[in-house]
Amino acid sequence: MPFLELRVMQVNILFPINAEGFTYLVPGELEEKIKPGLRVLAPFRSGKKVGIVVGLDKTTAITQDKEITLKSIESVLDDEPLIPDNLLKLIQWVGQYYMSTSGLALKNAVPSGIFEGKKGSKGRITYDHEAAPAKKINLTAEQQKALSEIISAVSGAFLLHGVTGSGKTEIYIRAIEELGDKEAIVLVPEIALTTQIVDRFRARFQDKVVFFHSGLSPGERITSWRKIRNGEVKVALGVRSAVFAPFKNLGLIIIDEEHEASYKQFEGLKYSARDAALARSKIESIKIILGSATPSIESFYHAKKGKLGYLELTQRVEQRPMPRVEIIDMTREEKESLSYSRKLLDVLEKNLSEGHQSLIMLNRRGYSPFLMCTDCGYTYKCPACSITLTYHKDTKTLNCHYCNSFLKPQDACPECKGTKIKYIGLGTQRIEEELHELLPELNLKRMDRDTTTKKLSHYRIVKDMEDKKIAVLLGTQMIAKGHDFPDVTVAAVVFADVALNLPDFRSSERTFQLFTQLAGRAGRGDVSGAVYIQTYEPEHYVFDYVRNHDYKGFYQNEIELRKELSYPPFSKLIRVVFSFRNKEDGVRTMKSVSARIKKITRPRNPKLKTQNLKSDFEILGPSPASIEKIRNYWRWHLILKGANSKSLRLAALKILESIKDIRDVKADIDVDPINLL
Ligand code: ADP
Ligand code: ZN
Repeated sequence: MPFLELRVMQVNILFPINAEGFTYLVPGELEEKIKPGLRVLAPFRSGKKVGIVVGLDKTTAITQDKEITLKSIESVLDDEPLIPDNLLKLIQWVGQYYMSTSGLALKNAVPSGIFEGKKGSKGRITYDHEAAPAKKINLTAEQQKALSEIISAVSGAFLLHGVTGSGKTEIYIRAIEELGDKEAIVLVPEIALTTQIVDRFRARFQDKVVFFHSGLSPGERITSWRKIRNGEVKVALGVRSAVFAPFKNLGLIIIDEEHEASYKQFEGLKYSARDAALARSKIESIKIILGSATPSIESFYHAKKGKLGYLELTQRVEQRPMPRVEIIDMTREEKESLSYSRKLLDVLEKNLSEGHQSLIMLNRRGYSPFLMCTDCGYTYKCPACSITLTYHKDTKTLNCHYCNSFLKPQDACPECKGTKIKYIGLGTQRIEEELHELLPELNLKRMDRDTTTKKLSHYRIVKDMEDKKIAVLLGTQMIAKGHDFPDVTVAAVVFADVALNLPDFRSSERTFQLFTQLAGRAGRGDVSGAVYIQTYEPEHYVFDYVRNHDYKGFYQNEIELRKELSYPPFSKLIRVVFSFRNKEDGVRTMKSVSARIKKITRPRNPKLKTQNLKSDFEILGPSPASIEKIRNYWRWHLILKGANSKSLRLAALKILESIKDIRDVKADIDVDPINLL
């Protein structure tokens, strides 16, 4: 039989689902129109789906029997590519780098309405309030120097390391103003925390700036997205997903507070918006600024190695001094209540009498981290997670901060029927209650995730602080970040020990960053600031560096530890989390998983080593994770650690491959994990 060859155009179509692209045939009449970045409608399973053209193959020869298995696309939905080419490249990079799929990356990158053919809400995007007009500012010599370096560069990555209150935001704004007709993305760690930065950008760029945040309605999301896509705005400001803003003429990306852990998404597509932004800057050959007062150890290391240009602001603006930091030793101090030393209360009273404001941080929400029966020692645990439940007094419930489920405590202990139930430990609700009892004349407000769930609640608190309707703002780490309240002269940590001893190689880094950021909120106006840190472990080495505002000293100490233990930046990590429903069966299965993993990663035949699996990495585990159960799934994990990211990936793939036939254990990969609990 003669070989029948047809030349039919094929395309690769990416759908916003957790999968790579699918191949389709292009009917002859659509061949002319089809281009990467266009939306098309294509048959999918038993229905139809909108996807994006990502690749064309005009020359594929297909035989008749092959043709039968491929379906044809039905129609083309756009005249012009909707997704710019560079953005498609970024989406594919993210899918591949994080060992996920391009489809899941697409789903994270583009509002879902775009695939539902929705038009978006008409008209202007409304803002919550008017921004004040911009102040006239003369840059300091340090600001000027940093800015000129940024302006004169054509491309490349910079670390802008400026102490708190040194005027980093001003540099971001000026750098954008110098872009000519090019556009900018500004990433902030959490939009809820950054009302003020939004105001400052609006004061300069008016309606040429759009904001991406979780509070947008689906319609607003599409409208913003289309404005960016159509070149109607200059700046996209937002959290993680703004890194995918569909600009066609991007000139600059800014990542404010680049050290923040919230740039990493913890569920679904586990990508870091910071690292995706760095990748985007390379794809587009543009400039990128990573800004922080407390850079991540990795970024500072890369700056030292010359991979990032280093720009430093050592002084606060207007020669304002850095605040004085005092460590309060709670083992010696006279305690006035569970939470407060006499000393801190005196400071708060004095500060009020002088007409200034204070911040008090405790990085734990709720009333108390657990209820305990003093007869038998029983504590309430979440039925679905291996986590003790936090008591919330306002709702009188025990809440799980992992899965958000809650239950009502009983009057008697469920175990021994005893009735002497005690609140153990501190949460933000409790320190608020205690302070209110001790100093009733203080006008208090609490800010944590529980008081900022409503749409404008965060903005109102910030406004009340600005208007000085609040004397003391208490809260979790939310209050430590980004705010610029000129009348705050005292910042305090109630119980620093919460953060000190977490079983994670980044815990000192986070603690240093958090306390330094909090300290940075004090003394930003004309009156100098003071910071008080209450702790039961005053000799902890982190406090010396916080007290002396000594980032570089802290870095030096930390980088040596990292080197010794070969943790990042001296290695790369990939974490594999195994989860299973039934504990006994799962643990048995994990034993055989371990055996298989040993086999594939330590080949008996030494020749195999040079083939594709080099033993230039280490495997820690598999072993039970610190949090053994979340949402009814038991968890084990392993960490791959090594300098060669290629062999790490390969090993991770082999591990997945080797357990493919095991049905009751699910494996989930996290590239560059931030959290090892
Ligand atoms: P950072 O982001 O480094 O903490 P900001 O950019 O928030 O600092 O600046 C702190 C405050 O100082 C802001 O109110 C800002 O308007 C103001 N500011 C910035 N640069 C200058 C300057 N050169 N002179 C006077 N004030 C300035
Ligand atoms: Zn739970």
